[in-house]
Amino acid sequence: MSRRRVHQLKVDWPNCTGRGVCHGVLPELIDLDPWGYPIITGPVTEELLPLAREAVRMCPQLALRLTSTP
Ligand code: SF4
Repeated sequence: MSRRRVHQLKVDWPNCTGRGVCHGVLPELIDLDPWGYPIITGPVTEELLPLAREAVRMCPQLALRLTSTP
């Protein structure tokens, strides 16, 4: 039986400046709190993986990471 990897977005809080670029790329999984800081709302589905990678790439502070667990 094959197991699917679970992908998750993580925020490196000391580096995040809360401008919300990530939310603009992936609103399906990233909300913003009242100060503009991201709230990750769930694991990254296979369908949203390309957009999650784009959100990581677009973060101006390199404060967003995509992790995978088997
Ligand atoms: S794009 Fe990066 S710096 Fe901006 S809110 Fe998202 S994680 Fe923080």
